[in-house]
Amino acid sequence: MNKEQNTNAESFEQCLKCTVCTVYCPMVAVNPDYPGPKQAGPDGERYRLKNPVFYDDALDLCLNCKRCEVACPSNVKIGDIIQSARLKYSSKKPKLRDFILANTDIMGTMASTMAPVVNFTLGLKPVKAVMDGVLAVDHHRTFPKYAGQRFETWFKRYALKKQEEYTKKVSYFHGCYANYNNPKLAKDFVKIMNAIGYGVNLLEKEKCCGVALISNGFKNQAIKQANLNLGSIRKAVGRGEPILTTSSTCTFTMRDEYAHILELDNSDVRSSIALATKFIFELVDAGKVKLVFKDDYRKRIAYHTPCHMEKLGWAIYSTSLVKMIPGVDFNMLDSQCCGIAGTYGFKKEHYEDSQKIGESLFRQIRDLNLDMVATDCETCKWQIEMSTGVQVENPISIIADALDVEATQKANR
Ligand code: SF4
Ligand code: SF4
Repeated sequence: MNKEQNTNAESFEQCLKCTVCTVYCPMVAVNPDYPGPKQAGPDGERYRLKNPVFYDDALDLCLNCKRCEVACPSNVKIGDIIQSARLKYSSKKPKLRDFILANTDIMGTMASTMAPVVNFTLGLKPVKAVMDGVLAVDHHRTFPKYAGQRFETWFKRYALKKQEEYTKKVSYFHGCYANYNNPKLAKDFVKIMNAIGYGVNLLEKEKCCGVALISNGFKNQAIKQANLNLGSIRKAVGRGEPILTTSSTCTFTMRDEYAHILELDNSDVRSSIALATKFIFELVDAGKVKLVFKDDYRKRIAYHTPCHMEKLGWAIYSTSLVKMIPGVDFNMLDSQCCGIAGTYGFKKEHYEDSQKIGESLFRQIRDLNLDMVATDCETCKWQIEMSTGVQVENPISIIADALDVEATQKANR
């Protein structure tokens, strides 16, 4: 067993007590009540294993950003240890608010059937005040808009047949956000893949990756959904198709959280799950595919590295692709956590910390006079757009908008 494969329980023994993790923890910087990664993680685990009474409710403050793990020189799975301890020892029962925030498929299915009404209603001040008072969803939050037509519906109606024209195929895990809120992102993915000569299949069955269920304490439901996704992924991998996503968090969850937090064996398919930008960049880099861009696309863009992208170490693929667009004036943000951490920043008790954590990032963005920010995480998009007023797009949508589709198709025939 190598260092990467060790279990949470084994990894805490590797702690050198150097406290580097504490320096990189965004929560320690804004909230003195948080014990910090070393104490909440490896140090606390020693005590909790002796007696669960040592579990500290302050672990609820952890964002699960994994920045501590990226910084740790000894490969201690600090974030995993904390997340697993919360699921195992916390006596707090999830609230109705947590159920609503975590069940993205249920909410998305209901909301998208009457999207204009839902979008209008969620933006009303009195509704926000009621949600704040009754559900403890902070009234400052802007909810992402729902689309009237889900991506899956569009795909079956307008794109499915065309995919038969391609011999090379990939499978797409679209995730909740692209399905219910931003179908354009998923359509952009299909547009790029088709232009470079790949057909797109959807998975036989897909549920939310489960990241919000895990962070809100619904482990059993997360395991159920993960098993359903893994079943469909295995079938696609069996057909020789890589599984591509357009969300860094969905990718990270299915590759790493399924094994480390939900204790599911995904080792047979883990390496087949990748972010679309990685897959496309590697094809371009190997000279197997050519992207041709429009001459008149001109944008000043800065890239924000989401925490889970930092953990994957894959920002280089997204940034390299965006930099290939000749008309892009590219800036790399010195990114810390944006503070939203999925559903965390929606909660009234965490809103203030969430905004304090993101402030240095927001300041950089405001100072750069940008046309847009690029990032691979949908919740970072919500946080940055709400806090800076600057438009945020996924690199896939930026590439799709800048792409000369006809010329790219020709170049890849
Ligand atoms: S960075 Fe790693 S080794 Fe250092 S104190 Fe934190 S967990 Fe221990
Ligand atoms: S996961 Fe993030 S918030 Fe939690 S201890 Fe690590 S660095 Fe801090």
